[in-house]
Amino acid sequence: MEIHTLGTNGWYDTRVSSTICTLILDEDYAIILDAGYGIEKLSRIELGERKVHLYLSHLHLDHIAGLHILNKFIFTQGLAIFCYDGSEKYLRTIVAPPFTAAFEDLPYSVSIQELGIGTFNVPYPVVTNQLIHPGGSMGVRLNIGGKIIVYCPDTGYCENAVALSKDADLLITECAYKSGMSNELWPHLNPESALRIAEESGAKRLLLTHFDANIYKSQKERDRIKEDLNYSRKDIIISYDGMVLNV
Ligand SMILES: [Zn+2]
Ligand SMILES: [Zn+2]
Repeated sequence: MEIHTLGTNGWYDTRVSSTICTLILDEDYAIILDAGYGIEKLSRIELGERKVHLYLSHLHLDHIAGLHILNKFIFTQGLAIFCYDGSEKYLRTIVAPPFTAAFEDLPYSVSIQELGIGTFNVPYPVVTNQLIHPGGSMGVRLNIGGKIIVYCPDTGYCENAVALSKDADLLITECAYKSGMSNELWPHLNPESALRIAEESGAKRLLLTHFDANIYKSQKERDRIKEDLNYSRKDIIISYDGMVLNV
């Protein structure tokens, strides 16, 4: 199974990266985690006959801005979107005229399923839980291809993120802030709090993404994270756009 980090910025696009989008390329599924402008790079990847599933953690624009280029793709098996409770009506408002083409006008079928908090079979098992973020944010634990992949985007440190990540093969989480930074009014992770979630959950590998565009202004600044953490035990991966990771 491959993980492709297509967009690794939080907030807005820069020369360094596009806004957040991650692809899990399983044998049968192409699973897209959030739809920032990084989704544009999906066209470079051969999806074949895979079923395409898109998980939207929340509706902040850096996670959904790429929805307006959905008409660029041909998903032969259609597109299944999974989002948290109550967000379908907003998606149907934004992905519609006068903003862009409506879901119904795309050249393939689209289904939208709201997920509450719990366990769902879609048909592979998915566990969801609420994270800490203004307006809410949904973390997901995917059991796919014999691996546990957990995605905890926009959140501060919280018990729910630790519980979701328990013994995961890979934890993909955000790292909007730099070492030592925090903001109680607008919670995000920094390298230490992301690592804390990985450590406490026993996740085997930690992939950091969603670096705040206004804080991390170069890939070099991201790459310094490992040095700053001065930590060698946990397998920490610092993402960049176009990175491919085998799981
Ligand atoms: Zn974000
Ligand atoms: Zn957000």
